[in-house]
Amino acid sequence: MGEPRRPGRDPLNADPFIQLRLLDVQALDLRLDQLAHRRRTVPEVSEGERLRAERAKLASELATAQAQVSDLTREQRKAEADVEQVRTRRARDEQRLQSGQVGSARDLQSLQSEIESLQRRQSDLEDVELDVMERLEAATAHEQELSARETELGTKLAEVDQARDRAYAEIDAEVDRLRRERTDTAAGVSDDLLKLYEKRRAQHGGVGAAALRQRRCEGCRMELDARYLGQIAAKPDDAVLSCEECGRILIRTLESGV
Ligand SMILES: [Zn+2]
Repeated sequence: MGEPRRPGRDPLNADPFIQLRLLDVQALDLRLDQLAHRRRTVPEVSEGERLRAERAKLASELATAQAQVSDLTREQRKAEADVEQVRTRRARDEQRLQSGQVGSARDLQSLQSEIESLQRRQSDLEDVELDVMERLEAATAHEQELSARETELGTKLAEVDQARDRAYAEIDAEVDRLRRERTDTAAGVSDDLLKLYEKRRAQHGGVGAAALRQRRCEGCRMELDARYLGQIAAKPDDAVLSCEECGRILIRTLESGV
């Protein structure tokens, strides 16, 4: 029964039915690989990264805008106080003027001149105050706009993260289901054959076992030459074969064409 074991080359035997099972394991592994790839490339992950970068930039812009509003608020208070100071002094002077207590014409003239000077000063300071108010208004509007954008971005980011988590959950549930199916399918396949399969799978881009159909290896898509097909036909059904072209485990099927 079987052929003499040659070290390192197709040393295994497995019931043809078990060999076909290995093709099912292979199909499940490919689906699991696809799911792992899908999990790595869930679009919401890169979208989330983009939004997070945008949010960080916005937060820094917002901090600058807030500092500006705070500076201008201080500047406005100072401008108000400056105007108020001059206004108070002018009111006091005008009261003195109207009280009739200033006797000499010289004092009267000096007081009037001071009032005029204070009027001009007040007008200048009011211009400054108005300018600060306008700048504060613009800065506040800018801050509010940035703040609204930050809120909007936060909402969007939360939605994207939720969508990402839903995608993960969906993929993970499918992975769990397929892993259970793989365990059931692989039951009965010997550890040696599974080990060989895993080794070939690692060497050949995730495909370690391929079917032989219509004289073609479905791993490398090569049609096998007549000499090799003749050798295959001569082998016992339970011999584990390897494709001469690609080295994958080659599994005979009902449509092998041998
Ligand atoms: Zn091949």
